[in-house]
Amino acid sequence: MDDSQFRTAMGKFATGVTVIATDVDGEVHGMTANAFMSVSLSPKLVVISIGEKARILEKIKQSNSFSVNILAAHQKELSMIFAGQIKEHREVAFERLDGKPVLPGALAQIACEVSAEYIEGDHTLFIGRVTDIHLEDGDPLIFYSGRYRKLVEEQTVTV
Ligand code: FAD
Repeated sequence: MDDSQFRTAMGKFATGVTVIATDVDGEVHGMTANAFMSVSLSPKLVVISIGEKARILEKIKQSNSFSVNILAAHQKELSMIFAGQIKEHREVAFERLDGKPVLPGALAQIACEVSAEYIEGDHTLFIGRVTDIHLEDGDPLIFYSGRYRKLVEEQTVTV
């Protein structure tokens, strides 16, 4: 099995898109991520997976906190900015939730404190203890097979 076959297989899992954000000394750093999962209800825990080459890795270790921002369908450009798919620098305004930087307009802003970290292969898994949540209505941005998609509601035909 080669790397591209593995990537292709993992890309068959349709996901939402998040931007993980943290700040060190008041400077906010964001990164697009879809390796995000709910872990536990009591206590409320989530997990994110950050590649060893990502600059945000050291920043989360320093701040010991992060936010997960679940993007709305109209926020594709933000995903591209924080994935480095748009190269030129864009100013992005952040709000605060429980002191963590969060993206306005995200469907869910989830503020977390790092409760554990595990290095697994070339990624680090951060377990986040959820300290606050803010929700908005709207449709999600979807990522599938390496492309951004929109959610289409299945129409049930009654005869
Ligand atoms: P950098 O290269 O440092 O930053 C990424 C971009 O964000 C840069 O262009 C930077 O200018 C911009 N940026 C950062 N902070 C700000 C700010 N405050 N204001 C304005 N711009 C800013 N990688 C993973 O490790 N885990 C994942 O789960 C994951 N999922 C992904 C899902 C999708 C759909 C995509 C497209 C990519 C995913 N990636 C994931 C890859 C990851 O987003 C990129 O490799 C990213 O560029 C690496 O992050 P970095 O911290 O090194 O970012």
